[in-house]
Amino acid sequence: MVTGIIYSEDYLNHVTGSHVESPQRLIATIKLLKERGIWENNPKYQIITPRKATLDQIRTVHSDHMIQRARDVAMEAKSGGNLEYLDGDTVMCGDSYEIALLAAGGVLEGVDQILKGKIQNAFALVRPPGHHSNRDYSRGFCVFNNAAIALRYLITEKNIQKAVIVDWDCHHGNGTQDIFYEGIPGTDKGDFMYISSHQDGRTLYPGSGFINEIGKGRAKGRILNMPLAPRSTDEVMRELYDEIVMPVLEEFKPEFIIVSAGFDAHFTDPITNLGWSVQWYGEMLQKLKVVADKIAQGRILVTLEGGYELKAISSSIVNCLQALGGDPCTEKNDNAPKTDPDILGYTRENVIKAIKDRFSEFWKFQK
Ligand SMILES: [Zn+2]
Repeated sequence: MVTGIIYSEDYLNHVTGSHVESPQRLIATIKLLKERGIWENNPKYQIITPRKATLDQIRTVHSDHMIQRARDVAMEAKSGGNLEYLDGDTVMCGDSYEIALLAAGGVLEGVDQILKGKIQNAFALVRPPGHHSNRDYSRGFCVFNNAAIALRYLITEKNIQKAVIVDWDCHHGNGTQDIFYEGIPGTDKGDFMYISSHQDGRTLYPGSGFINEIGKGRAKGRILNMPLAPRSTDEVMRELYDEIVMPVLEEFKPEFIIVSAGFDAHFTDPITNLGWSVQWYGEMLQKLKVVADKIAQGRILVTLEGGYELKAISSSIVNCLQALGGDPCTEKNDNAPKTDPDILGYTRENVIKAIKDRFSEFWKFQK
C-alpha cells in the first residue's frame, strides 16, 4: 500500500532569518527525495496536500491565551515587516501563525487518510515543529504541538482506544510530556504512551526527561523517558529498542503509532551531542513498522520535529520513507562514532536497568 508524504510549499513560508530551523531543511530534503525517486511519479508514494487545523482542534491541547499570543506575534511581524519572537528562540514571521495551523492540520490529514485506508502510513514534512510547546507556551522553535494534537484527535474524534507517541528527537519533548502528564487532556477516554529517547537533560535543552518523570494519576507509567549520555551511538539505541521500546509497545498494544521525528541526534548535528548515523533512523523505523504491522494494522504517522544538519536530515528522511515503504534503506554514513560512551556516571547497561526497575510495576519488558 501507499506511503503518504504530507507537504505544502507553504511550509517554506515560515521564514526564520538566520535561525537553524529554516526552510532550507525541507528544500534540501525534497531535493534528495527527488534524486532518489521518492516523490512524484513513484506509485509507492503519494504527496498529500495538508489542511489547516481548526481552532477547536488546537484548543484541545493549548490554552486560548497561548493561541492568541501566537496570532498576535505573527500579526506584529506582518505589520512591522520584521521577524518577531514568541520566546527567546522561537521566530515568527507574518505568515507563521497560519503555517503553524497548516502544520498541525497536515498531521491530522495524515491521520485521517491512514484511518480511511487510503494510505498505509505517512511522513508529515511539516514546519514549524511542535514537541516543546505545552498547553500554555510555544517555545523551542515550536508553535503548536502537532503530535499531541494528533494523539488527542485519535482518541477523542476517531475512536482509537490506545495510541503512542514515540519521540526520537535529540531534545526531550517536554511540551508533549507536560500536555499528557496527568492523562489525555479533557477526556476520560482511551489510553496513551509517550516514549522518548533524548540527550540527557543535564547536558542539553530543555533540561528534562529523566527516568523518574513517569506521569501522574491515570497517566502514571505511561510516560517513559530514556535519557542518553552525550555521544551515545546506534548500538546504544539498538539495545534500548530491543530491551525497552519494542517489548513495551508489544505489551501496550497501541492501535496507532505517531513518531515525533527529529534528526538532531545525528552525529553531525550542529546544536546537539549524540552520535547516531543516518542508517539508524531507517532501522529504528523498520523496527517500529514491525510492531505496527503486528498490532496496529501498520498505522504509523511520522511527523518532523528538529534536525539541523542538512545532509543528515535529508538522508535520514530518505531512509525513513524507504522504511515506511518497505524498501531497503540506501543512505549510509561510514564515519559515525562507534565507541560506547561512559560519562555522566551511567552506561547503557545501567540506564536499561534503571528503566526496568522504575517501570517494573507497569511493564514486564518481555521479549
Ligand atoms: Zn530537537
